Amino acid sequence: MKEKIYLSPPDLRGNEQDLVQSVFQSNWIAPMGPMLDEFELKLANLVEVSNAVALNSATAAIHLGLQVLGVKKGDKVLCSSFTFVASVNPVTYLGAIPVLIDAEVDTWNICPVLLEQAIVEETKKGEKPKALVLVHGYGTPAKVDEILAITKKYNILVLEDAASALGASFKQQAVGTFGDVGVYSFNGNKIITTSGGGMLVSNHQKYIQEARYLSRQAKENTPDYQHNQIGYNYGLSNVLAAIGVAQLELLPEFLIARKKNHQYYKKALEKKELVFLEPHVNTESNYWLTCVLFPSNSLKEKVRLALASEHIESRSLWKPMHQQTIYNECSFYKNGVSDDLFERGLCLPSGSLLTEDNLARVCKVILENC
Ligand SMILES: *Cc1c(COP(=O)(O)O)cnc(C)c1O
Repeated sequence: MKEKIYLSPPDLRGNEQDLVQSVFQSNWIAPMGPMLDEFELKLANLVEVSNAVALNSATAAIHLGLQVLGVKKGDKVLCSSFTFVASVNPVTYLGAIPVLIDAEVDTWNICPVLLEQAIVEETKKGEKPKALVLVHGYGTPAKVDEILAITKKYNILVLEDAASALGASFKQQAVGTFGDVGVYSFNGNKIITTSGGGMLVSNHQKYIQEARYLSRQAKENTPDYQHNQIGYNYGLSNVLAAIGVAQLELLPEFLIARKKNHQYYKKALEKKELVFLEPHVNTESNYWLTCVLFPSNSLKEKVRLALASEHIESRSLWKPMHQQTIYNECSFYKNGVSDDLFERGLCLPSGSLLTEDNLARVCKVILENC
């Protein structure tokens, strides 16, 4: 049987095992310790932000991020409809209400025109949104300038969901550092991994201090187990932080490898009527996943099944939130783009360990089936 090709498997080619070993030797097997401090510091330096707290997932980071921004029960929060569900669920955890906004064709991220329309309409209803969850989907930056001009004009707080976008930038500045707070993920399929984990970053120290406190059961710094707020157990393990430190060293290599995959696919498939997700002007993608649109849903499904029968994993683009039964009653500002992306779009194998032979195998199946 042929070797299975996965969508985006972990790539542990560096010092991961040595650093984990050093954690065992130091006996810091805990959600605190020197590796966590180092991981936070190194990530903060990399994206050029002054404060960071490591957490056990990006979902937890979004939850705490929204909470420290002051999102409360009944508040409206602006969200992309075209995203992974973890961008929106934390809004619900807080008892707040998502307002869903469609995508735009250039970046597949939130449409600035509909964003402004949503703010105006919701404000007319007397429900001015409190915050925006700004997603940079598939590692491709959203239209940062346009969007921040709007949130500034209407005085709306911004949490950047850069869960999949570590290494991506807009005008040379890392995405995740434009908003009031930003989030990265280190889940097993992301561009770097700690097996599972996340980071909340901000240039506002108070937000990160507050998030750190909430992530450790909101335990006061007193000897008597005093808790003045409801907290969570959201810290990252010091063991996993060791994997993160090693993975960060490899990020430059991973960025090159993933971009090469993207370029290979584009060249090999250029004769077909496929549309690739490409970074917009002034932006650099991290090319986390190479995503393509086929001319029709039937062709996309044909290719997906043909790949699966050859032991090649591919995946549909996200099913938009307005199509999910859990969110289909939310206000939705629509232009049809996210429905179309879901119909016709596929993520191709994009891991940093792919060989040219692997890529050729994937492209052969696609070329034979469309
Ligand atoms: C992966 C991802 C998340 C969730 O990250 P976890 O670390 O798995 O919780 C959230 N938002 C987006 C856009 C993602 O791609």
